[in-house]
Amino acid sequence: MRYIFITGGVVSSLGKGIFAASLGKLLQARGYRVTLQKFDPYLNVDPGTLNPYEHGEVFVTHDGAETDMDLGHYERFLNILTSRDHNVTTGKIYQTIIERERRGEYLGKTVQVIPHVTDEIKRRFTLLSQKEPYDVIITELGGTVGDIESLPYIEAARQLHYELGPLRVLFVHLTLLVYLEATQETKTKPTQHSVKELQQAGVQPDVLVCRTSRPIPKEMRAKIALHTNVPKNAVIQALDVPLIYQVLFQLRKEKLDEVILRRLRLPLRGEPDLSQWATFVERLQNPQATVRIGLVGKYVELHDAYKSIHEALMHAGGWQSVRVEVEWIHSADLTPENAERRLLGLQGILVAPGFGERGIAGKILAIQYARTRGVPFLGICLGMQMAVVEFARHVLGWTEAHTTEIDPSTPYPVIDLMPEQRHLRDKGGTMRLGAYPCEIRKGTLAWKVYQAPLIYERHRHRYEVNNQYRSTLEEAGLVVSGRYPEKDLVEIVELRGHPFFIGVQFHPEFQSRVEVPHPLFKAFVEAAARHTPD
Ligand code: GLN
Repeated sequence: MRYIFITGGVVSSLGKGIFAASLGKLLQARGYRVTLQKFDPYLNVDPGTLNPYEHGEVFVTHDGAETDMDLGHYERFLNILTSRDHNVTTGKIYQTIIERERRGEYLGKTVQVIPHVTDEIKRRFTLLSQKEPYDVIITELGGTVGDIESLPYIEAARQLHYELGPLRVLFVHLTLLVYLEATQETKTKPTQHSVKELQQAGVQPDVLVCRTSRPIPKEMRAKIALHTNVPKNAVIQALDVPLIYQVLFQLRKEKLDEVILRRLRLPLRGEPDLSQWATFVERLQNPQATVRIGLVGKYVELHDAYKSIHEALMHAGGWQSVRVEVEWIHSADLTPENAERRLLGLQGILVAPGFGERGIAGKILAIQYARTRGVPFLGICLGMQMAVVEFARHVLGWTEAHTTEIDPSTPYPVIDLMPEQRHLRDKGGTMRLGAYPCEIRKGTLAWKVYQAPLIYERHRHRYEVNNQYRSTLEEAGLVVSGRYPEKDLVEIVELRGHPFFIGVQFHPEFQSRVEVPHPLFKAFVEAAARHTPD
């Protein structure tokens, strides 16, 4: 078992998650059993309660944890499952310690950052190794070196390196080379300083990965190496690339995987097998057609808020050699006056998940447009719930139908809380979360898409289709094609007579993979590609 720690320097948003996932993929492609975990220095127990503007998407694991979106990259790149143990926050660490302290388990000792917090961090660094026999565990440390809140993590990693030795613990530091437009030169000083910062904390990076917009000359590598104490061949250039799927080819060209394996005394085992990956990138770059899909949501200014959806569309399009042009449509901008103009020409409409009132009217308008104009439609979670509301309002004529999340006194609560959700006080971690089985009804669109009687998809919501109205909705033409059998909950709805109209209570986007696109997104993009807009 080897541990690779990835730290970041100079600035945040360097693409550490993509880098970590790419490195993981390279090692996996050489036959190693690899997993990745993320440690976040913030005090929230998990990102579940964070606003998407703060944090981007919340990724939901199979076992129902609300986690950092980098876990999405890990799952998509390596086609692996992560779990609640793959994302640790300072909030979680302290929660454990404080609970232990209250139980008196520290036996009268003063509880301190060192050793108690660092011990708990170390326990979690190595926890995954007790569950599965991985060869390599890659740990991405969130934040930027030099942040006060990162210090206990760096200290804990230093201790692990001391305890297990340099053959089992390796540090990769990802940094930025700053390019100055005015003088047209690449500057290495901020990188030198960020390495110094690490060294001051007792950590010597073994590998330095330099994000750069221009290729770095040989002398510059030598200079960086000299000033940072990193061997020249371990100063790796990570040139900006247009697609996140190309990063691993860049790293491979720089022999990052070889440098790391040699340093850990692990055999190279020949060449990494990236053929499937290369086929995907090749198709993605040579599209035979373009399809315009409108993504209607209320956080569209921040594309990261819909990361997994965007990725799932890329996977689906790429494999079909179709370029998916995503049109980001702010649901709060759609009005009865402009909806027609804004939506015209789209070949598919995806209404995104979400919470709360803002933009709801716009979502309903977009759904109505898709339903009445025969535009392929995919509604996810809140998008599905609003499809049911739209149907109730405009097909059944219940103009005040709504979800009780937004209108608690609606006369037609077609979407409502489950009884077990009613008395919950805590917001964090209390939704219907994680994978649930869904039984698919034969002869439906869902059946055609999944071609299986039983599927598992991941959930993150409190509200459900109200079964009290189900038969009336079905009689009017709404088809319930997927059900959670144990509780008889509606999981998938579709429309009879429409070329492609499907709403899902779950989040299919969390299960799409670069090498295995998700069937629902595949079918949606296919239908959109076939659709000629009015
Ligand atoms: N707000 C809705 C609910 O809680 C939908 C959630 C979502 O779209 N993820 O049920």
